[in-house]
Order: sequence, then structure tokens, then C-alpha cells
Amino acid sequence: MKIKPNKPPLKSGETIKLDIERLNHDGEGVGRLSGFTVFVPATAPGDSVMARVISVQKTYARALLETVINASPARVTPSCAHYDSCGGCQLQHLDYAEQLRVKREIVQESLRRIGGLNINVQPVIGMIDPWRYRNKAQVPVGMDGGTVIAGFFAKRSHRIVDVECCLLQHPANDKVVDIIRGLLRETGISAYNEKEHSGLLRHVLARTSFNSGETLVVLVTNGRRIPNKDMLVAALSAKIENLTGIVQNINTRRGNVILGNEEVTLWGKPYLTECLDGLTFRVSPRSFYQVNTVQTEVLYKKIREYSSLSGSETVIDLYCGIGTISLYLSRYTASVIGVESVPAAIEDAKTNAILNGLENVKFHTGLAEKLVPEMQKSGLHADVVVVDPPRKGCEQSLLDAIVAMQPNRLIYVSCNPSTLARDLKYLTIKGLIVQDVQPVDMFPHTSHVECVVLIKRK
Ligand code: SAH
Repeated sequence: MKIKPNKPPLKSGETIKLDIERLNHDGEGVGRLSGFTVFVPATAPGDSVMARVISVQKTYARALLETVINASPARVTPSCAHYDSCGGCQLQHLDYAEQLRVKREIVQESLRRIGGLNINVQPVIGMIDPWRYRNKAQVPVGMDGGTVIAGFFAKRSHRIVDVECCLLQHPANDKVVDIIRGLLRETGISAYNEKEHSGLLRHVLARTSFNSGETLVVLVTNGRRIPNKDMLVAALSAKIENLTGIVQNINTRRGNVILGNEEVTLWGKPYLTECLDGLTFRVSPRSFYQVNTVQTEVLYKKIREYSSLSGSETVIDLYCGIGTISLYLSRYTASVIGVESVPAAIEDAKTNAILNGLENVKFHTGLAEKLVPEMQKSGLHADVVVVDPPRKGCEQSLLDAIVAMQPNRLIYVSCNPSTLARDLKYLTIKGLIVQDVQPVDMFPHTSHVECVVLIKRK
């Protein structure tokens, strides 16, 4: 039996020697000092390091890497020059095979520790080329002295790191940010100041299709009036190749939420057209679309495989976004019902059904945890249920309604192993069985892990 020390065996400010055993779900190294857990970012399993303790809590401490005494063989030199300061990536110092091994371990560990599930997690499906995979850039804009900067937030902060080239982005998105950064300097349009809630341009959002190469630009502004607007729009439309539209999104609220509710089309179309497995999707600025186009196909293929459709089933696709999974599966089954809370996404989903000539799909706007219990009570049965919730996972009222519907298969797509583990624990208590867990690497070089899980009835 492990004995936990009563008092932490270290103090803030102290430098300690530590062997790193594994990574936690934030991608930070985990080591133990006399049994006491210490987290050290930017380390690798197998490293021996000297680290300076920066905070001590009841059950764990945090420390910053000072020197690597013995390096893990999986360590590599990060490809990005901004890796040390930018908060976007956490795993660039590990070779890609090690990143995949670590992600599998993170999932396995969450399922065991939070879910009480001792289940063999499949090896993570990685990318052949794990760079430049993101179709969307969402970049905060600010000032540094007198200069406009645009990039990413620094690790654990809201300080902007000026990044001109992100190796995870489609190159066209990098270019858009670069052009806008230059134009702000020329037009005198002010950048947003988060502290003072002043200045105009808050975020630049660029989405580029990996299929057509089209780009949609969204300018998120703290206010309606854009000085020198015509000049800005003319310059953007002239400089950005394959531009499909420029949209202004107005967000005058304080806080972290990036997009506001009001939009004005400044040029072209207010949406991007994406293609996936022969289907066409319209994506508008406020709709969710998976950021890794290549791996989305891999993920959806797995969902189809798990759903074992014979052609006669009723499928419910919860948290359906713009209807991608619904429409993907509708080609192999009798009928699909999609549920999603964002009205703009449901509008996209309905358009997408028409664009693809798929008539066996119905979409409903609302909260899954409210609509599905009502559907279940009114007698709706589903053979297959797919859930793909945001990071916070599913509410119990939703899981109860799904269990009551008695589907043959439940497929849980998750971007957060912790809430996945919590929800799987609840479902197993209710009598369901976790059959297979397949992680798919949608976010190489970051600590994020996506999983698709097949759950069955006893
Ligand atoms: N399945 C889709 C989208 C998944 S992202 C795809 O693969 O593209 C999660 C989606 O859930 C987002 O579109 C978000 O708007 C939606 N959402 C968030 N909370 C919700 C809730 N309580 N009920 C229904 N939808 C919700």
C-alpha cells in the first residue's frame, strides 16, 4: 500500500530533482517526490529533470523545468520557433509516435481512475503527415506597445504571442492573419484591449477548405462601425486568394466568448463550402465544424463501422452541429434525427440535407438534455444513438433518456477523456457495456485527444 505523506515534502521556490513517469491530461509531465505528485510542463516520460516548484497544493505541486539531466529518447527539437512561449501546442518536444503512445495512456488512465473501467484502449489512429492540419484559425488581436499583434495566447495566460507562422494551420489561414495584421497597421483600425474593453478588432477567424481551397474570413469587432471599412474590404478581397466571403461578427460583451450573435456580410458569401466523403457541407461562421478535415473522415468511418447499419435502422445524432454525422450515416440507413442547440448550425444542417439530396433526415433545434427526454417519453425509439458533446460531456437526464430508449448501439464521440470516463461510468452502472474505445488523433502536437466509443446493451 502506498502511504501518502501528511505534509507536502517540498516548498515553493525550491529546486527539486524529479523522474517523469507519464503525462497528465493537460500534457504535463507527472513525477513523484517521496510519493507526492508534481506536475512539470514541457517534460517527457523517461526524463530526469531539475525543476523549480512554483505552487504547492494539498495533493500536488507544480514546478517549472530548469534543466533536463537525462533526456527521454522520445525527445525531439520542437519544429516551431514559438513553442516555448505559445500556449497552442503542448507536445512538440515528443516525437509523433510517442505523442500517440502518451495519448492512449491518458485515455486508459482516465477511464481507470475516473470511470473505474479496466478496458483495453485501441492504439491511437495518427496522421501520416501531422502538420498544417487545421482548417480554422481563431486568432486574438492586440497591441504590443504601438504595434498591432495577432497570434495565440501564451501558456496559461491571456497575453498574446505574435505568431506569423503556425505549423498546425493551413498556410492560407496564416496568410490571412498576416494580411490583416498589415492592413490594421495601414488603416489605423484599432486592436481590442481586453482589460480596458476598448479598441475595435477582437479576433480574426479564418476558415479554409482543404478540398476547394476557398477561404472565409470573419472579423470579430467590439462595435458596429469599422473606420475605413471600404478600404479594408477592398484590400482584403484583392489580397486573399480564393476568398469566398468576409463577415463582420459584432461582439461587444466582456469575457472569453469569442463570437457575438450579430453578423453583417461585408463581401461575398457568409459561409464556406466544405466536402467530406462525397458530401457537400455549408459552414457558417457560428457553426461548429471539425478543425482537422483529414482525420474527420477517419473518425466518421469508425462511427459508421461501430453503427453496423443494415439499412433499416433509426439513428439519432445528438450534438449534430451542421449535420455532418447525420448526413454521412443517412446514406446507409432508413432515417436519422439530428439535435443541436445552435440555430445557425441547424439552418446549415437543413440546407446541407437539401444540397446533398438526402431526404431521410430531420433536424431539431434545442438542448439535447431537454429534447431527448421528451422524445423518449412520446415513444420515439432509436436503434443507434450517436452523441458528440462539447468538453463538459452529457447531462444525466440525457443519458437516462438514452438508456430508456434501449438502442442496440450507443456511439459516444468525445473530445475530453475525463467527462467521457464519468459518463461511461454512469452508463455502465445503468447496465450498458463499453465494447471498444478508439482514440483518433485530431489534434497532433497538442494534448487534446478525441475518442469514439462503442457501447452496447447487455
Ligand atoms: N457532431 C458534430 C458537432 C460536434 S461539436 C460534428 O462532428 O461536426 C458539439 C456540438 O454540440 C456543437 O455544434 C454545439 O453547438 C452543440 N451543443 C452544445 N451543447 C449542446 C446541448 N446541450 N444540446 C445540443 N447541442 C449542443
